Amino acid sequence: MTSSVVVVGGGIGGLATALSLTRAGQRVTVLEQASSFGEVGAGMQIAPNCTRILHEWGLLDEVTSLGVLPERIVMKDAVDGRLLSALDLHDVERRYGFPYLVIHRSDLHGVLLRACRSAGVDLVTDVTVTGYTSSPTGATAIHDGGTVPADVVIAADGLHSVARRVFSDDEPVSSAYVAYRGAVPIDKVAELDVHLKDVVVYVGPRCHLVQYPLRGGEMFNQVAVFESPKAKLGLADWGTPDELDAAFAGSCPQVRAGLHLMWRDRWWRMFDREPLDTWVTGRLALTGDAAHPPLQYLAQGAVMAIEDAWVLGTHAAPSPRPAPDELGPRPASPKLEPHAVQPAPDWDAVLAAYNAVRPEHCRRVLTTARSWGEFWHHDGPERAWRNEVLRNRNLYDYSYVDWLFGPTALTPDQEPEMFPSGTSV
Ligand code: FAD
Repeated sequence: MTSSVVVVGGGIGGLATALSLTRAGQRVTVLEQASSFGEVGAGMQIAPNCTRILHEWGLLDEVTSLGVLPERIVMKDAVDGRLLSALDLHDVERRYGFPYLVIHRSDLHGVLLRACRSAGVDLVTDVTVTGYTSSPTGATAIHDGGTVPADVVIAADGLHSVARRVFSDDEPVSSAYVAYRGAVPIDKVAELDVHLKDVVVYVGPRCHLVQYPLRGGEMFNQVAVFESPKAKLGLADWGTPDELDAAFAGSCPQVRAGLHLMWRDRWWRMFDREPLDTWVTGRLALTGDAAHPPLQYLAQGAVMAIEDAWVLGTHAAPSPRPAPDELGPRPASPKLEPHAVQPAPDWDAVLAAYNAVRPEHCRRVLTTARSWGEFWHHDGPERAWRNEVLRNRNLYDYSYVDWLFGPTALTPDQEPEMFPSGTSV
C-alpha cells in the first residue's frame, strides 16, 4: 500500500517536496495557511545545483523561458563603482552542465504549483498547523479544525516554523540588516547606467545593491540591503526608508540612481538561525527555511529547499537513483510524466538518509553566508584589502563554488569547507 505524506507549507520548499515525493509514487497533501498559494517578493537567483534538479523534473525549459540566463555575475565597489571581479556564467554552465538563471519568485513558485497539480498533489489552503505529534510509525499535523494523520509529516513552514519548536527552542537571529526590493518594467531603467545582461552586485560599507533583468529582460530587479543603525540600538522601528537613503548616501551615482526605483512601502528584515544538527524525529522532518534559513548572500535558500526535496524523493523512490557525481554536459531534457503509485518506502531509512546528507551541507551554507556577507560589507582598510583580494582572483578558479554548484550537496561525501565556522574573512 502506498503511504500518506503531509507537507506543511506551500512555499517553494513545500511544493518542491510535494512534487518530489509524488514523483516517487507517494500520496501527498500540502497544508497551507494562506487562502491561496503564492509568493511575495521579486527576483531570485537559481544556481546550477538547483537547475540540475529542475532539469531532472522536466521543468527547466519552462523555468528558463520565464526567467533570464545572465551572462556574468559582476562584483563592483559600491563607493567608487569600479569592477572587482566577475563570474562567466557561460563557463559556469559548461563546468556544471546546467545554467545559472534568475527568475521572478512567483514564476518559479507557479511552475512548481502547476507541476504539483498535474502530478496529483492534494493542495489544501486555509489550514494553519499549530502543533505536531510524531511516533515511530507516523506523525500528525494538528490545526484549529482537527488533526491530519500521515505516515510522514514534512514541515516546510518557513523561518518562523512551528514544527522547529519540536527540535529546538531557538529563535530567528537578527542580522540587523534589512532588504528593500523592487522589480520594475525595463523601460524605467533606460536612462540609467545598468547592465542588462548580468547580475551585478555593488558591495559597500555595511550595504550592497544587487541588480539583474527578469522575465526575458522585460523587467529589472533590484535588492538593496543595509545595516540598520536603529536595529543596532535595539529600537523596534528599524529598517525604515530614511535609513535606506542614509545607508547609500556615500555610494557611487550608478548605485544611488537605482534606489528611487525600490519599493519603499515594505522591507524585509534579514534573519537566519543557528544550524541544527538533526531535522528528523520519528516521522516528522523539517525542510527549507524551517530547517535552515540562511542570510541570502549566497542566494541558496530556495535552492537548498529544492535540494532537500530531491534527496527525500530520491530515497523514497522504489529504485533510488544514484546522486550525480560527475560535472559536465547535461543529458537530454526529460518529460514530466505521471508517476505510478508505489508501495510505501521504508520511511525510517528514507528519513535517516535525508538526515545524513542535508544538515551538514546546509550548516556550511549558513555559516559561509554569514562570512560572505561580512566580506562584502567591509569599510576602511578592510575594504581596500577585500578589493585587492577580489581583483587578484583568478576568474576561472571555481574552488570557492564547486562545493555549492556541484552535486556534492546531494550526497554524504562533502568537499572541504572554504570558510570554517568562526573564520572572519
Ligand atoms: P517560505 O517561503 O517561508 O514558505 C513557507 C510557507 O509555509 C508559506 O507559504 C507559509 O504561508 C506557510 N506556513 C507557515 N506557517 C504555516 C503554518 N503554521 N501552517 C501552514 N502553513 C504555514 N534563495 C535563493 O535560492 N536564491 C535567491 O536569490 C534568494 N534571494 C533572496 C533574497 C531575499 C531578500 C530573501 C529574504 C531571501 C532570498 N532567498 C533566496 C531565500 C528564499 O527566498 C527562501 O530560502 C525560500 O523562499 C524558503 O522557502 P520555504 O518554502 O522553505 O519557506
